[in-house]
Amino acid sequence: MSKTGLSAIWHDTTQKFEVTELPITETESDAINIRVEATSVCGSDLHIWRGDGIPEEEGPRDPFVFGHEMMGSVAELGSKIKTDSLKQPLKEGDRVVYTYYFPCQNCYNCIRGEFGGCKFRRTYPTIDYCSGGFAQYYYLRNPQFVFKLPDEINNAAAAPINCALAQVIEAFRISDFRFGDNVVIQGAGGLGINASAVASDMGANKVIVIDGQKPRLELAKKCGATDIIDINKYNTVQSRVDRVKELTNGIGADIVIELVGFPAAVEEGIQMCRMRGTYLEVGHISPNSMINVDVQQLVSNQIRFYGIQHYDPWILPNAIDFLLRTKNKYPLMDVVSHEFPITKIEEAFKTAEWLGNSRGIEVTRAIVTP
Ligand SMILES: [Zn+2]
Ligand SMILES: [Zn+2]
Repeated sequence: MSKTGLSAIWHDTTQKFEVTELPITETESDAINIRVEATSVCGSDLHIWRGDGIPEEEGPRDPFVFGHEMMGSVAELGSKIKTDSLKQPLKEGDRVVYTYYFPCQNCYNCIRGEFGGCKFRRTYPTIDYCSGGFAQYYYLRNPQFVFKLPDEINNAAAAPINCALAQVIEAFRISDFRFGDNVVIQGAGGLGINASAVASDMGANKVIVIDGQKPRLELAKKCGATDIIDINKYNTVQSRVDRVKELTNGIGADIVIELVGFPAAVEEGIQMCRMRGTYLEVGHISPNSMINVDVQQLVSNQIRFYGIQHYDPWILPNAIDFLLRTKNKYPLMDVVSHEFPITKIEEAFKTAEWLGNSRGIEVTRAIVTP
């Protein structure tokens, strides 16, 4: 294994990435050094990159490396590691996906098996050595969960498994999803496209996808959406709420999932829920995301409101199986539309940015191949 690797360090002060060589940390006996092969630019990366929700008086953040929606191959195995988390033999060169967080396994949530809810879990890559999504290596620590990838799933298709796909599977798991439910998906980015296919596969009756970017809506249609609401056509909140009601016999959706990450989407989406419907809030990862909601409305409509972040590790192998099982049904392997080397990461982010771009963008998901 090489001694150094490239990392893309973000600087708030210059608003630029610095792509630089950092040393690779020594592989401890129970750890794995991963050679990162593909990392998607997730919507949450765009929030981090823009600095959404951070008050100006806080000043610039310290330089950091980020990126979490990734896959790679085993560069070096710690001496104690012989298998993946399903006891399949693991060797150097094997392609893998893994959770991007590692739980402490020794806290209130962990002892209940709620690894995704571990308050001491670490998620963030480092600049002390080469480790991150937007870096050539990722240091996978124990206990972090790793799963071998089948050959049929290419690198670009595998990168979104540990966030976009796993996250929506977790959200629907929490929601008490019933066969024949009507589902509204707010946002047709990487998570929205995956949510559309998962909802369809779980037996949804209607899968209604809302977005303003045409290529995304077109892809959503191929990935299980039964109906789309283009916000350029339905350009007021009321018209969109009315359209959902119209598509659900005046009842409203059983489940609405928010995958946009802007507060106005939440105010809008909870109006689309049926009496005793479920609202799944996933999109908001930025601080100071305030909404203006009449709580009485939540109570009288008996809305079940869930906040969801992270997932438990069993979801990753199930996500891999889902991709394989449905590969001829939904073109989920086509979610990634643009590829950039790490040296062009700046371009990757600028291409992926959709905010303030009214012309519409072609990007459904951009990936960096470090
Ligand atoms: Zn813990
Ligand atoms: Zn993500």
